[in-house]
Amino acid sequence: MSNLPTISHWIEGRTLAESQGRFSKVFNPALGVATAQVELATRETVDKAVASALDAQKVWALTPPLKRARVMAKLKILLEEHADELCRLITSEHGKVYQDSMGELQRGIENVEFASYAPELLKGEYSRQVGMGVDSWSEFHALGVVAGITPFNFPVMVPLWMWPLAVVCGNAFILKPSERDPSSALRVAQLAIEAGLPPGVLNVVNGDKVAVDALLEHPQIKAISFVGSTPIARYVYATGCAQGKRVQALGGAKNHAVVMPDADIEQAVLALMGAAFGSCGERCMAIPLVLAVGDETADAVVAKLTEEIYKMRIGPGLSANNYDMGPLITKEHFEKVNHYVDLGVAEGASLVVDGRGLQVQDHENGYFLAPCLFDQVKPNMRIYQEEIFGPVLGVMRVPNLATAMELIDAHEYGNGCCIFTRDGEVARYFTDKVQIGMVGVNVPLPVPVAYHSFGGWKNSLFGDLHAYGPDGVRFYTKRKTITQRWPTSQLREGVAFSFPSN
Ligand code: NAD
Repeated sequence: MSNLPTISHWIEGRTLAESQGRFSKVFNPALGVATAQVELATRETVDKAVASALDAQKVWALTPPLKRARVMAKLKILLEEHADELCRLITSEHGKVYQDSMGELQRGIENVEFASYAPELLKGEYSRQVGMGVDSWSEFHALGVVAGITPFNFPVMVPLWMWPLAVVCGNAFILKPSERDPSSALRVAQLAIEAGLPPGVLNVVNGDKVAVDALLEHPQIKAISFVGSTPIARYVYATGCAQGKRVQALGGAKNHAVVMPDADIEQAVLALMGAAFGSCGERCMAIPLVLAVGDETADAVVAKLTEEIYKMRIGPGLSANNYDMGPLITKEHFEKVNHYVDLGVAEGASLVVDGRGLQVQDHENGYFLAPCLFDQVKPNMRIYQEEIFGPVLGVMRVPNLATAMELIDAHEYGNGCCIFTRDGEVARYFTDKVQIGMVGVNVPLPVPVAYHSFGGWKNSLFGDLHAYGPDGVRFYTKRKTITQRWPTSQLREGVAFSFPSN
């Protein structure tokens, strides 16, 4: 144990510091220094969180949905009031620039807002007279205690995809945020108590694989929502399902943008800049690949991208200079992304802009990598196939739309993609046929709003239901269908051995 401040668990509405002594360091990526240590839960910590959640859920499930929802309406206001504090926390642990943290928080708040309207989706379904004198209805019941495991890249928003909706549906929730930037999700959990959420309805355990395995194997946890990389998503899905749980596990991505020859190239490139380099490329909906249709399009796209990249300002996310892009999350990730740039060169792609070796004044130990741009990327290269999750954009030259779509469909990931064109027929063909879960037309980051649902196809999602929105309500509830008949003097029936039908 070091002298660093300790980030502990949040159970039963208060901080729970354990004494077993497993810790992991939390860094400020702009400075490259450890700023805190986070406790890593043991199985016993998870047991405590589950016991508290089980007790709380029994009462919470009986609370009328509108009262549950009102807590979310109050939380929305508190989140808005604490926006500056929360965004400073996000930026200091994640590294993304302050304005980007504000965007993340706003999208998270929209999920809280949706949860505050969720009783509308819990009304159930009713059919009168499904048979003579028979009525039938479906109700949506809470599952009990459910859990969520979240990644580092949206430390506030992704937890808010999950738990507000789960608790409005009558569940208690255990959140295991990323151990790399846990503070903002913990602060939101504290604000939830202020908003009126009863202690134990939301517990937060910090930790690593030990905590995740304890959640996956705990017999009292009925469902798991996971967001993170594909290998872990696959593991969480397989392990959770084998334990009889309902699981949705959202994985990694490698999203393509197609630029057609008729596109407004200037607008397309400006959109691509934010999609490729916003949040240092650490977004599952980022665009790391451009498929430029025709050499003329590719030449124009590469030239304009190069011009725009050299205008970018890179520096610490909390600076008054309002930089465009901050550092990567950790030293290990910084080294991994740098290695991919080396690899791209070795594989024969043409490195048009080399962002390696950037030094930011007074932040020499920060994990800064400036934007990198490759041209002449080919499908057999690892920089094409693998998720890099950094500020590295690759341009591939393709002869036509059909080739572009074959490449997208053959790729293992299916999270997002987009097309830039002025041709409605082409756009409609693309959106109809492409094998991807979230598609944009002249929209580079087609992240569904809170009242739709979010999810990819192929190796970007394991499970059936997407995250948040209407699918989220279905994921966090189980259906019960009741069929009712009251015998009357006019409607008496004799014995029937045939299957009931109309
Ligand atoms: P990650 O898979 O390393 O970690 C995600 C979570 O799993 C964390 O809470 C972590 O503690 C836990 N974990 C890590 N290793 C584990 C192990 N061996 N066993 C059990 N649990 C483990 O992901 P990350 O680096 O935090 O986040 C980046 C990844 O998340 C990228 O691949 C990105 O594409 C993906 N992501 C996907 C979406 C989506 O909606 N599809 C959204 C955001 C991020």
